[in-house]
Amino acid sequence: MEMMEDVVIVGAGIAGLATAVALKRVGVRALVLERSEGLRATGAALTLYPNAWLALDALGVSHKLTPIYALTSMGYVTNVSAGDVQQVHFRVANNGGDGQGIRTVHRKVLLEALAEELPVDSIQFSSKLAVIESEEQGGASIAVIHLEDGTTIKSKVLIGCDGVNSVVARWLGLAEPVHSGRSAVRGLAVFSQGHGFKQEVHQFVDAGKRAGFVPLNDREIYWFLTYNGENMAGDPEQIQKQVLEKYAEKFPSSYLEVVRHADLSTLTWASLKFRQPWGIIFGKLSKGNVTVAGDAMHPMTPDLGQGGGSSLEDAVVVGRHIGNSVKNNGGLIVPGDMAKAIDDYVKERRWRAAFLVTGSYLAGWVHLGGDKWLVKFLRDGIFYKYLFGRISGLVHKDCGKLPAMSFGDMDHSSKKD
Ligand SMILES: Cc1cc2nc3c(=O)[nH]c(=O)nc-3n(C[C@H](O)[C@H](O)[C@H](O)COP(=O)(O)OP(=O)(O)OC[C@H]3O[C@@H](n4cnc5c(N)ncnc54)[C@H](O)[C@@H]3O)c2cc1C
Repeated sequence: MEMMEDVVIVGAGIAGLATAVALKRVGVRALVLERSEGLRATGAALTLYPNAWLALDALGVSHKLTPIYALTSMGYVTNVSAGDVQQVHFRVANNGGDGQGIRTVHRKVLLEALAEELPVDSIQFSSKLAVIESEEQGGASIAVIHLEDGTTIKSKVLIGCDGVNSVVARWLGLAEPVHSGRSAVRGLAVFSQGHGFKQEVHQFVDAGKRAGFVPLNDREIYWFLTYNGENMAGDPEQIQKQVLEKYAEKFPSSYLEVVRHADLSTLTWASLKFRQPWGIIFGKLSKGNVTVAGDAMHPMTPDLGQGGGSSLEDAVVVGRHIGNSVKNNGGLIVPGDMAKAIDDYVKERRWRAAFLVTGSYLAGWVHLGGDKWLVKFLRDGIFYKYLFGRISGLVHKDCGKLPAMSFGDMDHSSKKD
């Protein structure tokens, strides 16, 4: 079977669904191919910073989430060995707006909020991309996408949102992501009678470890542990036991109590990978009408909580460039013009992605580095003095809006070549 599409997006994670929503807003229908049988919400929850909320505003989705999830405006960081506690106030973005603080949301709810904006038949599950080729048609390149089940789809544009082990990134020739030497455990804790914590984030740092928790609502708490090391074998029950008895043994009782209430069905362990920043700065992030977004472009360690937020930014930016092209071409996807739109998207995202990957890695390094004199000097003398302000400023970025389209622009993008 062979099909022809305007835009194919591989992966129905945050990046893929958000990109499909952005394209829908500019009148472009995209087919989303997802290898799983349904939406995957691995990791249970994630924290979205002002940049993510600005992107969700641009996508027209934030209003569905802000009434359900409260703003977190205060946090505490406990140095477990020294016993001191620092209070942190989170600022709201300068340009105002209700949603632009920090909120932690269920991944499933975010994915569903995005997916329900799309036409029912636009996400095709159990569809695993196996091989990509490209061919020339009328002087422009067309992506030829082969699925594992033997289906072939031709598309004027291919956007790989297929995560850290992206097939599309490999096809582009991007350097493989590397192991950071760090891992993370995360999940939800459920208190059927209510947990009694305020809407504040609590973090605990110790040599080689950083842990924390933040309420999602009155009964559920999202908790995590990141640590230096790449082994934590076993089923969720064994992982919970190791967190309690080995990694967080000396952590305050509040954290241990949260972990004891873990809903084991949500508990996951992951070894953390990232793409080296020079692989993003010098790498081929696009080839003709093929590009990548989200973790497929810029896998990063989770130390700034920016992987999901920057995926949402990618979606708005690629939607804007494709939308402008469609607008300039009377509502049509013109393959010859798409390469330029994709190239403009890559230009806009390349340095930001590289900064986020670097900032995340450095933030993790100083937090997990411990109290050796060199680490202390680099952390207190250099990182906090000169870099921290710039790095934390990254989470306030406004990726901009999607172009306003008239009905005329939106009528026929998928009807003609
Ligand atoms: C421990 C941890 C904590 C984090 N915390 C935060 C946080 O607080 N805030 C934040 O913003 N980010 C956070 N992140 C990062 C965030 O989870 C990711 O950046 C985000 O999920 C990336 O979304 P994505 O859509 O690019 O990739 P994914 O979520 O990986 O989605 C990729 C999709 O593509 C599909 N797929 C893969 N290969 C194929 C194929 N060949 N064919 C078809 N489909 C395919 C997969 O099944 C999947 O559904 C965290 C990450 C980790 C590991």
